[in-house]
Amino acid sequence: MFIEGLNLEKSYGAGEVKTEVLKGIELKLNKGEIGVILGPSGSGKSTLMNIIGGVDRADGGSVSIDGIEITRLSDDQLTEYRRESVGFIFQFYNLVPNLTVSENIEVCSNISKSPLKIDEVLEAVGLLDKKNRFPRELSGGEQQRVSIARAIVKNPKLLLCDEPTGALDFQTSRSILKLLQQVNKKYGTTILMITHNGAIGAMANRVFKLRSGQIVEETMNQTIVPAERIEW
Ligand code: ADP
Ligand code: MG
Repeated sequence: MFIEGLNLEKSYGAGEVKTEVLKGIELKLNKGEIGVILGPSGSGKSTLMNIIGGVDRADGGSVSIDGIEITRLSDDQLTEYRRESVGFIFQFYNLVPNLTVSENIEVCSNISKSPLKIDEVLEAVGLLDKKNRFPRELSGGEQQRVSIARAIVKNPKLLLCDEPTGALDFQTSRSILKLLQQVNKKYGTTILMITHNGAIGAMANRVFKLRSGQIVEETMNQTIVPAERIEW
């Protein structure tokens, strides 16, 4: 297994205001697969993703990524894991407004060390011709493409996408999901994506339904629907 989360527990606060957010989560995904975590707002999706991405720590249980138990790493080792191995994509793109498209990607790449070149990833997301534009000059979908280019320039083993289409219209969402499928195929990147849109589960190998901090259902899809054919 590429991702192996076992019995994950997480609470916020203490005493009377203690909230259990994750209550014994099991989540497994093979290398090169796309997994979708489906669940309503507040069910613990982002908390789970942050633990898998090494942004946050669980209170109990373990996470292994590609054979390394990240829950046992020191803070410095965890930071290194996150920097080297994980790409993040968020609902609101998180681009730096006063940097151009290519500068936004450059700040996240170690030019001499990056496995992929800036022009290569811009080509992959279809924005090579906009490399000198600023984020405000781009549509929402284009800004999300920049954030995908920024995430993949280091050729991460794992791409974590937290509601990547949450701010986009239907057609644009489809094109972003299609791009993520292409990245998965082209670079073999394992993708774990959060959404509250059930239809998106059709493009994933595995779908995990999360309710109040527990996986209530796991589905394996035999056939993967190309993102451009998803209906919702
Ligand atoms: P989702 O992504 O599914 O909407 P989250 O993982 O963001 O859910 O949050 C799950 C629950 O944990 C929510 O009730 C939220 O208020 C709470 N929570 C999340 N982060 C924190 C935090 N840093 N401190 C306190 N409570 C938090
Ligand atoms: Mg969330």
